[in-house]
Amino acid sequence: MARKQETKTTTKKKTPAKRTTKKAVAEVKAPEVTVEEPKAEAVEEVKEEPKAEAVKEEVVEEPKYEAPPTSRRSVAFIGSECYPFVKTGGLGDVMYALPKALVKQNCDVKVIIPRYKCIPWKYQEKMVYRGSFQMNLCEDGRSFYVGIMEYVWDGVVYDFIDNEEFFSDGNPYTNLIDDIPKYCYFAKAALAALNYMNWVPDIIHCHDWQAALVPVYLRTLFENTKLTSAKTILTIHNLRFQGIYNIPTIRYWSGLPDYVFNKDALKVSYNDANMLKGGLTYANVITTVSHTYAGEIQTGYYGETLDAHLRYHSGKLRGILNGIDYDIWNTATDTRLYENYDLTNVLEKKRENKRRLQEELGLVQDDHKFVIGLISRLTNQKGLDLINAILPQIIDGNTQVVVLGTGDDIYENSFRYYENAYKGNVCSNIMYDETRAHRIYAGADAFLVPSQFEPCGLTQLIAMHYGTIPIVRETGGLKDTVEPYNVFYNSGNGFTFDRYESGLLLDAINRAKTLYFTDRWRWDEMLQRDMNKDFSWDSSAKQYKDLYLELTW
Ligand code: ADP
Repeated sequence: MARKQETKTTTKKKTPAKRTTKKAVAEVKAPEVTVEEPKAEAVEEVKEEPKAEAVKEEVVEEPKYEAPPTSRRSVAFIGSECYPFVKTGGLGDVMYALPKALVKQNCDVKVIIPRYKCIPWKYQEKMVYRGSFQMNLCEDGRSFYVGIMEYVWDGVVYDFIDNEEFFSDGNPYTNLIDDIPKYCYFAKAALAALNYMNWVPDIIHCHDWQAALVPVYLRTLFENTKLTSAKTILTIHNLRFQGIYNIPTIRYWSGLPDYVFNKDALKVSYNDANMLKGGLTYANVITTVSHTYAGEIQTGYYGETLDAHLRYHSGKLRGILNGIDYDIWNTATDTRLYENYDLTNVLEKKRENKRRLQEELGLVQDDHKFVIGLISRLTNQKGLDLINAILPQIIDGNTQVVVLGTGDDIYENSFRYYENAYKGNVCSNIMYDETRAHRIYAGADAFLVPSQFEPCGLTQLIAMHYGTIPIVRETGGLKDTVEPYNVFYNSGNGFTFDRYESGLLLDAINRAKTLYFTDRWRWDEMLQRDMNKDFSWDSSAKQYKDLYLELTW
């Protein structure tokens, strides 16, 4: 009920709320966050009373909404990667873009991530030492150094947990033997750092298994600290990764009490512990990154063995779609593109981008070829078996395929093989390259995402925003964001198929080609429709904000 009231007030008062947001953001300097409760009552009273008597006489009276709703909330984001410091996939994008969007929603946000050695020096040198202490970690009381390095950017405070013993690899993730101790340490150190800085957030928002022990620590070893007033949210970005290892190892490194290693919390199978499962049990709310994926993970096929556990906790599980950062992904200002464009000149400029892309990648330069892009981690999640099975049928003399990605040898090698077999029409870029990614999004005509499962998927959103038509499998966020093209109504945003079968993917690609080659104006209309769609973070950030309010009212 309380949440309803809050929602009502904010929707009615859209404009003034914006005005006050700015003011409030400028004032957040003190580390202590105080929730200004009395204002809520004031707003309610002002609303109720004058209406009855004075309304008729003084209709002219200006709305009395000058006081902001008491909707400022403080949030600590805890996760293992964050663009532009370190990113291996969509999690890094979200950890950067969502806090930024939440600042606009009147939130006070701190992002806590490890200070990996691989973070570029240009960021490391700007970090400011905020303090350090020793922290007990293991079962036998072994203690470790925790340093806090701070960096403030775009209204968001980034606190890096510093420890050379754990974070000195070139890559954030190496192998579970090293990663399990690393993220036990990180989860505990993140909470200890909040305590040390005396910053008690309203919400602690954790991401994926690497931060999943945070809610567990909070309700056990941190029970008697001031942090316990915080509510916890655990967001699943990809259920496949859970942090599973044998119980003795996780118990030793985490130093967590025995009772959390039971079937309802961390324990799975005979002698294993699952860090994500523990987090799901102890978090106040679980979210995942699309509505469809929230449903899918409660089934045996997509549930990655946690479906029953998720069904049990379904009352606190919900899906909130990701967005994309419009400052980074903006065709009109993107400095990585050969030619910038917007809705007014997209058709002409996209052709130019395609021409230059073909030139840079050594493809046959021909405006009339249908260029299909694929940017992805090369793992079996991404539906690459389907592509491999039909690639010879895709390359028909009128079509080119551009791949960008790294991952499993089997896929890297098969794409290398195809590049060799279809020289001039297939280009496999086995690398991680931001600039090339931007150019492919802009230069391709269509974009493939035939994933086996896809929690949300950012690449299809970016592609659409860049006027590139997605061809996707109807799963997870792909299903929620790509409306299938309807030839009768000339509506929709892309081409889709349902079952995980290569024949169906080929059919979807052929439907796309048919439209492209025989009905170009409809194709062009669709790409303009896609560019016009709103994939910004605004509405998702608003949903997260509502959730924070609901939890802390
Ligand atoms: P996932 O998180 O499962 O890897 P998403 O679609 O959520 O997939 O996010 C992938 C992000 O990583 C996108 O921003 C995409 O552009 C980027 N990306 C993936 N592979 C590469 C690559 N090889 N080079 C540059 N960017 C890449």
